[in-house]
Amino acid sequence: TSALTLTDVHKSFGAAQIIRGVNLAVEPGERHAIIGPNGAGKSTLFNLISGRYLPSRGEISLHGEKISDLPPYKVNRKGLSRSFQITNLFHNMTVFENLRCSLLWAQGYKYSFWHLIGRQTGLTEATEQWLERLGLEKRRDVQASLLTYAEQRTLEIGTTIAGGADVVLLDEPTAGMGLSERDHAMRLIREVTRDKTLLIVEHDMSVVFELADRISVLVYGEVIASDTPDAVRGNAAVQEAYLGEAH
Ligand code: ADP
Ligand code: MG
Ligand code: MG
Repeated sequence: TSALTLTDVHKSFGAAQIIRGVNLAVEPGERHAIIGPNGAGKSTLFNLISGRYLPSRGEISLHGEKISDLPPYKVNRKGLSRSFQITNLFHNMTVFENLRCSLLWAQGYKYSFWHLIGRQTGLTEATEQWLERLGLEKRRDVQASLLTYAEQRTLEIGTTIAGGADVVLLDEPTAGMGLSERDHAMRLIREVTRDKTLLIVEHDMSVVFELADRISVLVYGEVIASDTPDAVRGNAAVQEAYLGEAH
């Protein structure tokens, strides 16, 4: 079975049809990128997959089990975790405590009052290892809100993945980064998703070209191409869809 399957998924808000019949299968271990112009519905698709929105029609399943009627925390407990286009960290907690929360979550702990004021214990070594993987050792005891933007995004990639899910959704993880920060983040994503199934949203293909096994192109709520990066780059319909944007 596929890790993630979308079957004829639709989503409307009032009269506006935003997702219009998306079919998608992501295989275990695959790195799959969704690209598309602004407003195509990429984040909406993530909101549908992660349980934040209910599809108007169609079905989503995780490892063959229907998830499209479950709330976000239950989808997460079944092994799917997502990042947000806007960072989603505990801003008053340190880098270290943010990562430890994710690792505790992965072990089945629930966040509690005590966790949130920094009284959680254990998993110190595993947390240090994550700090190192992310290159944030020197920022260990800094409050998340005081990190640079790129560091916040990096930490969010870490907390999303350290949470233990095997299917990971990243929504424009490098948006707003400079070029060298972006290169660094993409290398990091490759490294920390080595044993995961990855669905990554990016605005533009160049960012995910090296990382993705397959790329799906979403335009006005429809997948107009789904293929290897080389094939997608050579696809005339894809070039057409991006013409108005590139220049
Ligand atoms: P992308 O991530 O590809 O830039 P989005 O999924 O954020 O696009 O948005 C696609 C379209 O759906 C936009 O026109 C947006 O205004 C609309 N949309 C998204 N969420 C909602 C909502 N909760 N209510 C109404 N319209 C929405
Ligand atoms: Mg957008
Ligand atoms: Mg978006």
